[in-house]
Amino acid sequence: MSGTVAGMDVHYPPEAESFREKVQAFLAEKLPADWHGVGALEGDDYWTFVLEWRKTLHAADLLAVGWPVEYGGAGLTPLEQVVVAEEFAKAGVPGGGANDVFGIQMLGNTLLQWGTEEQKRYYLPRILANDDIWCQGYSEPNAGSDLGNLGTRAVRDGDEWVINGQKIWTSFGHLADHIFVLCRTDTSAPKHRGITFLLCDMRQPGVEVRPIKMISGESEFNEVFFTDARCPVANVVGEINGGWAVAMTLLGYERGEAAAVLPIRYRADLDRLFDLARAYGKAGDPTVRQRLAWCYSKVEIMRFLGYRTLTAWLSGGHPGPESSIFKNLWSEYQQVETELAMEIMGPAGLVPTGRHPMAAFQTDDAGAPNDTASWTTVFLNARAGTIYAGSSQIQRNILGEMVLGLPKEPKADQGSWSESSKRS
Ligand SMILES: Cc1cc2nc3c(=O)[nH]c(=O)nc-3n(C[C@H](O)[C@H](O)[C@H](O)COP(=O)(O)OP(=O)(O)OC[C@H]3O[C@@H](n4cnc5c(N)ncnc54)[C@H](O)[C@@H]3O)c2cc1C
Repeated sequence: MSGTVAGMDVHYPPEAESFREKVQAFLAEKLPADWHGVGALEGDDYWTFVLEWRKTLHAADLLAVGWPVEYGGAGLTPLEQVVVAEEFAKAGVPGGGANDVFGIQMLGNTLLQWGTEEQKRYYLPRILANDDIWCQGYSEPNAGSDLGNLGTRAVRDGDEWVINGQKIWTSFGHLADHIFVLCRTDTSAPKHRGITFLLCDMRQPGVEVRPIKMISGESEFNEVFFTDARCPVANVVGEINGGWAVAMTLLGYERGEAAAVLPIRYRADLDRLFDLARAYGKAGDPTVRQRLAWCYSKVEIMRFLGYRTLTAWLSGGHPGPESSIFKNLWSEYQQVETELAMEIMGPAGLVPTGRHPMAAFQTDDAGAPNDTASWTTVFLNARAGTIYAGSSQIQRNILGEMVLGLPKEPKADQGSWSESSKRS
C-alpha cells in the first residue's frame, strides 16, 4: 500500500493469536466470574484489588513482561508484550500498581540498559516485590520543558552525595519511598553535561514531600524538597556528569508504551460517551451527532496510528517522531471529547455525583459507571495531558525539526550552566 499507511500491518501472526488465548485463559482463571473491569470498584475495594492483582501478576512473573527472566521478568517478545497489554486493557485490569510506571516501566527498563550488575541485582527484584516504591524527580520550578536547566545540586562528600534543592510535579511522590533524581554535579560545564542521575532513598530527614492540590480537588503530585539529603556514591546510574543520556533513555520509556493500550481505552470511553448522549436525550441532536462522529474518526485514527507505531517497534525500530504525533493526538483529542461530555451533561456536570475516577490520568477505568463525577474529573484532568511527558508545543518542535526538517530552535543559553542560569 502507498501513502500514509505504508509500512503498517494490521494483522497479527498466528503465534500471537495462540499466545493471546493463553493470556485470556490466565485472566479467566484469576478474575471473578462477574468481573466488569476495575472501574466497577470504588474506595478501599479498588485499592485492595489493585494490590492483590499486583501480587497475582508478580507470582505469575507478569509484572515486568519485557524484562529478562534472570531479573524476575517474563522475557516476552515485543509481540507477546503487545498482546498482554491489549488483553489486560480489554479486561479492564491494570498491569501493576500506581507507582509501577516509575519503578518498572521507567527506572527498571533504564537500569537494564545503564545500571551496573550490582544495581540490577539489588534494585530490580525489590521493585517487583514492592519493597521499593519509586517516583520521578526530574522537573523543577525553573526546569520543565527546559529540563537541562535543572539546579538541584549534588556535592560529593566522601562516599556519599549530598543533595540540596527542589523538585516539583512529582506524581505519586507521596506514595513513594525512593526517587530517581537528576542533580547538577558540575556547575561550570554546559547545561546538559553537568547532570548526574542518582537513586535516592526518601526515608531520611533531608527529604520532605508536600502534596499539591489540583483543580479536581485531588492530590496526585507533589513538591519534593532536599535539604542535605544523602545517597551513596554507588547510586549513580551511568557516568558522573553523564546523567543526561540516562535521563533521555528513561523519557523514551515514559513516552513509548501507549500505542497498544490507548486506542482500546479510548474506544471504550467513546462507547460510554455514546451512552451518555443517549441518557441525556442528546443522541438525536445533529450538532452533538456531528461531534460524536468527529470523536469516532479520531479514535479510529488513533487505532491505525497505534498499529503503525507497533509495526515499526516490532520490526526492531525505536519509537521515533510518531510517538510525538501519538502523544498530541490522544491528549488533544481527550480535551475535546471531555468538553463534549460536559456540554451533553449541561448543568448536571456542575454538581458531580457518583464514583470519582480512582486514577486521574487519561480515561476513567474500564467498567466505571457513567456518572457525572467520572466525566467532570476526567475533563479537569485532561488539561494536564497536553503538559506532562512533553507539552504539545514541545512535541510540535520535535516534529518540526525531525520530520519537516525546519531549522532548529535558536538557543539563547549556550555556555556553562552557571552562566546561562544567570542570564535567565
Ligand atoms: C499531571 C502531571 C504530572 C507530572 N508528573 C511529573 C513527575 O512525576 N515527575 C517530574 O519530574 N515531572 C512531572 N511533571 C512535570 C512535567 O514534566 C512538566 O510540567 C512539563 O515538562 C512542562 O514543564 P513546565 O510545567 O515547567 O512548563 P514550561 O516548560 O514552563 O512551559 C510553559 C509553556 O511554555 C511552552 N514552552 C516551553 N518551552 C517551549 C519551547 N521551546 N517552544 C515552544 N513552547 C514552549 C510549553 O509548551 C508550555 O505551554 C508532571 C506534570 C503534570 C502536569
